[in-house]
Amino acid sequence: VRVPTPQNEPILSHAPGTPERAELQATLKRMASEQIEIPIVIGGKRIKSNKTDTVRMPHKHSHVLATLHEADASHVEQAIQTALSVKDEWARMPFAERAAIFLRAAELLATRYRPILNASTMLGQSKTAHQAEIDAACEAIDFLRYNVHFAQELLSQQPVSPAQTWNMMDYRPLDGFVFAVAPFNFTSIAMNLAVTPALMGNVVLFKPSNTAAYSNWYVMELLREAGLPDGVINMLPGDGPTVGNPVLASPHLGGIHFTGSTPTFQSMWRTVGENIARYKQYPRLVGETGGKDFIFAHPSAADDLDALATAIVRGGYEYQGQKCSAASRIYVPESIWPKLKPRLQEMIAELRMGDITDFRNFMGAVIDEKSFKRTSSYIELAKNSGAEATILAGGEADRSEGWFIKPTLVQLTNPRHRIMQEEIFAPVVGLYVYPDAKFEETLRECDACATYALTGAVFARDRKAISTMMSELRHTAGNFYINDKPTGAVVGQQPFGGSRASGTNDKAGSMLNLVRWTSPRTIKENF
Ligand code: GLU
Repeated sequence: VRVPTPQNEPILSHAPGTPERAELQATLKRMASEQIEIPIVIGGKRIKSNKTDTVRMPHKHSHVLATLHEADASHVEQAIQTALSVKDEWARMPFAERAAIFLRAAELLATRYRPILNASTMLGQSKTAHQAEIDAACEAIDFLRYNVHFAQELLSQQPVSPAQTWNMMDYRPLDGFVFAVAPFNFTSIAMNLAVTPALMGNVVLFKPSNTAAYSNWYVMELLREAGLPDGVINMLPGDGPTVGNPVLASPHLGGIHFTGSTPTFQSMWRTVGENIARYKQYPRLVGETGGKDFIFAHPSAADDLDALATAIVRGGYEYQGQKCSAASRIYVPESIWPKLKPRLQEMIAELRMGDITDFRNFMGAVIDEKSFKRTSSYIELAKNSGAEATILAGGEADRSEGWFIKPTLVQLTNPRHRIMQEEIFAPVVGLYVYPDAKFEETLRECDACATYALTGAVFARDRKAISTMMSELRHTAGNFYINDKPTGAVVGQQPFGGSRASGTNDKAGSMLNLVRWTSPRTIKENF
């Protein structure tokens, strides 16, 4: 059986007058008017706990969307037992049957579930309709279809067999369960972290972020409706260490599929190290852990300043800068700065921010109070940095109704200022203007400045400059863009991931990631 090569799911515009807009608006209205309970899910059963959290809209924090039931160590134990009890049956199911479940999930998501996933991502994570559509609809669908396609390619990789023998690779799942730990910022990533190991025959304990559990719960419902057997993916919302520690102490831990912060991943890695002798096998550690992503302009970018300004604004402020790939440090040569500066300020001043159910808004709120406070402290830092920092746009925050931070641009005279080095994960962008004669020196500075290496973009028309940038910044980004913004990788087109403190670079949405969820057995038979 061959699954045809997929095509990327087309992005629906949600423009005024389109049927998808009317449907999404009706769904938003309905979902905002009801309060739901989000259970723990173990073996297909919906379980309530006596510890709950309240899920609120980031852009209107008085509005409660759901009560979330949080898992504790006893739920973890139950989930491990349940997952292990269905493991063999799931692993023995022919690949084509497993694939059919995920392909059906893609079809359901492309149709009936599309407005539900979009609306829940908008309300719960404060995404605009477009940002939800490219995440919870298109990217999620693409992950499902392309991973099935890549898995099939992987399974067909077989060794040579001389006469009278048959050599085979038996792509077994890992001997245990996989722990999928998801971030709040992409519904598609949350789904992919759980689904990819499952596609390769693994059973999964899935811990969503509490701040995205609202949309992630509908992902669980989607997978159930698509026919995923009970117990293959079990959902354990809750506090990180409360859920994580008993999981990492289990001898059956086969791997971790993580997207989130660098400190959390490093602390899990340390715990795995401490427990290493307990495990039946060395757990696979796959993590994507943030970035401090650059846009570096060469003087020859003067030919198209609009493209550069658009990349800075879209890369820096779409989804409030809460993408691991967001542009957050910008390097501009002196020669183009006088023309770029007013253009940037004008564009930023025009960005509309507010309730995401008003489709004219370009930005919503940051995810929660913690992020609001953290971001505000960086704005304070800019204000207290004297001549080293000049706020060129934004610099204001308003918490009265939602966690709103104005898109902020800070010019720094010191390229090692904390705003140029630290991941803020919010709409605060640092910018450094360099003397044209110091182009190569500044490239080296860009490489040395951040500990991260996720995405980056260079802008230039001069071919020689592009090749210098490609080589000086060889290890500075796992996703490298030339004359484009550093966000918005498309599944099947730009496999996603970075190195250094940004992760293990096991490219999401590619065969390289799927390889990590299999422990192949090599078989030789003599005839
Ligand atoms: N894949 C997304 C992009 O290219 C970013 C994912 C993330 O934030 O982790 O923009």
